[in-house]
Amino acid sequence: MEKRRIPMATSSSSKAAKSPVAPQIKRGQRILTEKPFAFVLKSKYRLERCDNCLEATKVLKCSNCRYVSYCNRACQSQAWGQHKHECPFLKKVHPRIVPDAARMLCRLILRLEHGGDLIRGYYTEHGSRKFRDLMSHYAEIKNDPMRLEHLDSLHAVLEDMMAESPSTVPNKTELMSIYGRLITNGFNVLDAEMNSIATAIYLGVSITDHSCQPNAVATFEGSELHVHAIEDMECLDWSKIFISYIDLLNTPEQRRQDLKDHYYFLCVCTKCTDAQESREMTAALCPNRNCGVGINVERTNCPRCDAGISPKLRNAYKEAMALTRHNLESMKDVAYFDVCKVCLNKQTGVLHPLNVWHVKTLDAAFEAAIDVGKWTDALDYGQRLLPGFRKYHGAWNPLLGLLHMKLGKIQLFEQHAKEARHHLEEAQRILTVTHGRDHRLLSEQLYPLLLQARHEANN
Ligand SMILES: [Zn+2]
Ligand SMILES: [Zn+2]
Ligand SMILES: [Zn+2]
Ligand SMILES: [Zn+2]
Repeated sequence: MEKRRIPMATSSSSKAAKSPVAPQIKRGQRILTEKPFAFVLKSKYRLERCDNCLEATKVLKCSNCRYVSYCNRACQSQAWGQHKHECPFLKKVHPRIVPDAARMLCRLILRLEHGGDLIRGYYTEHGSRKFRDLMSHYAEIKNDPMRLEHLDSLHAVLEDMMAESPSTVPNKTELMSIYGRLITNGFNVLDAEMNSIATAIYLGVSITDHSCQPNAVATFEGSELHVHAIEDMECLDWSKIFISYIDLLNTPEQRRQDLKDHYYFLCVCTKCTDAQESREMTAALCPNRNCGVGINVERTNCPRCDAGISPKLRNAYKEAMALTRHNLESMKDVAYFDVCKVCLNKQTGVLHPLNVWHVKTLDAAFEAAIDVGKWTDALDYGQRLLPGFRKYHGAWNPLLGLLHMKLGKIQLFEQHAKEARHHLEEAQRILTVTHGRDHRLLSEQLYPLLLQARHEANN
């Protein structure tokens, strides 16, 4: 029988008839809220963000260690329970900056020493995990020279900080087991713009496995972690809930490498095992303008339209890929508008629009154009970025929602109210699912913009 589209008006009843089990969990539902077991604000923010609520605001230093700062007394006293143990150590090494991983290890050691071993993080009413339940990958780390070197350097910092104290640094074996749990389970806490501002360990959520095609997403409000379902689910079964641990805007080879280096496992998700995915992500563009399909330059002809692939195209492809890889690598921290433009010129007519290196370049170009206030260029790059973001990050991803929000903001600034409204409504549709409608990103940033865009579009 032919599959026909179900008209919208009857979709709910037809859907119920088709699938016998109605989903218990709806897309957009929050399935977990969790406070961190331990967290550390990145040291580069310690003079501009509160060490407790992570808010970027005017802050005052702890008068004893002069290392951490707080936005007010309430935050300081809330943090004191955990800070009091580390405060003397931070004071001892003042004015030196402690590596974030060392401070995190110090906090974990102290937390475990003061009853943290018994603390449980719940992922369901009855399901919970303690720190010792977390994976440590002890054996792998023990055989990983890079990790061992890192741990040695952290060990030296800790010995220096925590000397002359009753809470001595644990022995190497114990320290490695704590370090392993930190490496394997640590989260980057992101602010509303998706910048990494802190490192944290959450006990309950550590039950969640990775997939490059996740059905749930983790977002943050301050240091609190929220997990939202991005697909309907039949029930709350954590063995079937997946989040992504890594940047999905990468080829399967790169993703697998990232996961192996960092989490010591080989991803066998459907996207990683599909050979097509890798080919698509690095495809050249068919020379026949009416075809537009992605091709492999090592072949002689386009598989769809049979257009010949010339040595000239082959060379242009290799050059564009090499130039792009080189420049994106060197612009890891800050992207330069002119460099992005040079790369994009090289890519035009050579790389397929969904080639991941082209998408990455557009992403860098978009941010660089915003940085230098080139709004027309930013709009152009941002619009062209949408299909790649949708394809690789997924339709329900915070980054896609934020991209729409940024486009809406620029369109509003450029007085294109109707386009602005469209993008802001798209942002709302996505961010409501990934963050929840009460999240401050929506209430403080998105809703006021949307209100303004609707008002201006109606005038
Ligand atoms: Zn605060
Ligand atoms: Zn202090
Ligand atoms: Zn995968
Ligand atoms: Zn073709």
